[in-house]
Amino acid sequence: MKIGIDLGGSHIGIGVINENGKILEKREVDLNINVSIEEFITNYITENVKNIIENYDIENIGVASPGTPKDGKITTLVNLGIKDLDITKMLNQICNVPVRIRNDAKCAGLAEKQYGSLAPYSDAVFICLGTGIGGAVFMDNKLLTPKRNPGFELGHMIIDKNGMLCNCGKRGCFETYCSMKRLKNALIDIMELPKDISPQELLQILIKRRTEENVKAVLDNYCENLVVGLSNIIDIFEPEAICIGGSFVYFEDVLFEELIEKYYEKRYVFNKKTLPDLKLAILGNDAGIIGA
Ligand SMILES: [Zn+2]
Repeated sequence: MKIGIDLGGSHIGIGVINENGKILEKREVDLNINVSIEEFITNYITENVKNIIENYDIENIGVASPGTPKDGKITTLVNLGIKDLDITKMLNQICNVPVRIRNDAKCAGLAEKQYGSLAPYSDAVFICLGTGIGGAVFMDNKLLTPKRNPGFELGHMIIDKNGMLCNCGKRGCFETYCSMKRLKNALIDIMELPKDISPQELLQILIKRRTEENVKAVLDNYCENLVVGLSNIIDIFEPEAICIGGSFVYFEDVLFEELIEKYYEKRYVFNKKTLPDLKLAILGNDAGIIGA
């Protein structure tokens, strides 16, 4: 058995996974951002992993982390107040099993490829639409992994060179138009809703007000930009299928139908005869833990 740890922007999930990718036990906590968040994360993971190891025969541990983890360390997670956390060393102090760490979108992609909606395909792309945009590309059933950097920064592909400024310093990155964070902010502005509205409330209001002209325009523009990004990805990789994961899936009822319609118009794609199947992730929040 293995332990999968998913370190999200607002939540930590720790699961015990068997050889068939099934979660046998799961522990989760929401993170309320406060000053000692790194200490909280360290203590929570240490205590729970110790406890799990007493009860299960664990062969190895995988960690899914946002950002660009390198050499077993988590670096510069601004949202979590983490500058440099050597999670491999930390875990090896409490147990002597191999630890591997990888970007969370790649972990979720691995889970969807192995056990989820990408399982039937050998050439596939997973794209995670959440706070930012991340992804994973599989060719011949293998995750593509460049040597120098993790690569596949799909969110920082430029779709408008004079466009909006991205957190990365460039202009017009795909994620400045198509991350769920940007979409939520645009909807909150246009519908004049409170900034701290929950996703549940936002979805309910959106279902009622989606046909209002200005709301429709925001959704329409979002889906149009998303199809531009997807078409670029298709032209480069020619996958058999693309799977969309992340919080996009939660808003499926108000987004997917329109996306599909624009997608099959094929206005931005080169090979119009072989459009990849467009799928939604099916493992939900568990994808990070399973993939890790
Ligand atoms: Zn960028």
